[in-house]
Amino acid sequence: MGGVSEVLPNGADAPHDPASGEPDPRDELLALVEGLNAHVARCRRLGLRAIELPQQPAAPPRDASAPAPAPAARPAPLAAALRGPATPAPGAPPAQAPGQERSPAQTATPRTPAVAPRPPSSPLAQPAAATVLSEAVARNRAAAAACPDLPSLARAVAACTACELCKTRKQTVFSDGDGSAGVLFIGEAPGANEDEQGVPFVGAAGQLLSDIIHKGMKLERARVSIANVLKCRPPGNREPTDAEKALCTPWLDRQVELLAPRVIVALGRHAGNHMLGYAGAARQPLGALRGRVHERAGRKVVVTYHPANLLREPENKKDCWKDIQLAMAELGLQPPARGA
Ligand code: URA
Repeated sequence: MGGVSEVLPNGADAPHDPASGEPDPRDELLALVEGLNAHVARCRRLGLRAIELPQQPAAPPRDASAPAPAPAARPAPLAAALRGPATPAPGAPPAQAPGQERSPAQTATPRTPAVAPRPPSSPLAQPAAATVLSEAVARNRAAAAACPDLPSLARAVAACTACELCKTRKQTVFSDGDGSAGVLFIGEAPGANEDEQGVPFVGAAGQLLSDIIHKGMKLERARVSIANVLKCRPPGNREPTDAEKALCTPWLDRQVELLAPRVIVALGRHAGNHMLGYAGAARQPLGALRGRVHERAGRKVVVTYHPANLLREPENKKDCWKDIQLAMAELGLQPPARGA
């Protein structure tokens, strides 16, 4: 994977310390690049053309007496960079680079496009796309860090347009419950009902989760906190892409930080791998993650079945209940007496 070395700083390769509880950022980057490669393959299958992101020309040495240069242009929107240029209609004028107005002369006489399409066989500019993605993640991380509380974080999430899901969502789905019981449940992504109502886990799987909380743990649903890895619904309930997860992770990380739960219950394989930092080829099957209490970045994490799985395979409820009791023990809650 040639591109990765180009987005990592050169220099000594410091060993990653797994005992730190932090994920190895290089694993995460590799997972993102894998995701981009899958995207590239899909573009190729669809016959979409490649795109070279506009490069800033190297700045000549500056004359101290000269006026200061204009601030650097905002990077190309991530979605545009990953999607590539729209195929112009036959006879349509050439594409216009972001921020560049065309003069009347240009409008009258089409010239070579500012971003020349490459031949269909050439690869997409992967290192550039990976750089654009990591910059967009960094912008979301900075925006999340600037939120002093959960309401301001929810507003920042509602304004997020970092990925294509903002175009198809009805609304963002931030959280439910006040978290005062000390437990945070995390699912994968909102579904149709959640997208409609703006509240996580309100459909059939949500009803089962409410039963687990209320009948099993003897807690009010309003006192736990419920959220998802993604804050927007993927169309048709498809699986979130690695890029979507990377872009949404800063919101979730800040949400966890502000909620400070005593235990996190990750629902299903996707949320479980995400919360434990397994990405790409390192992803684990659910069976390898559930049944114990993990310590991750100073937080206790229990992984169990997603309620949607329990609706399809009710025989897993017994093991789910064992996992929930592990979480209850972390909260100092007694499980109900047998037969109760
Ligand atoms: N499934 C999830 O993972 N999250 C929801 O909010 C609803 C269903």
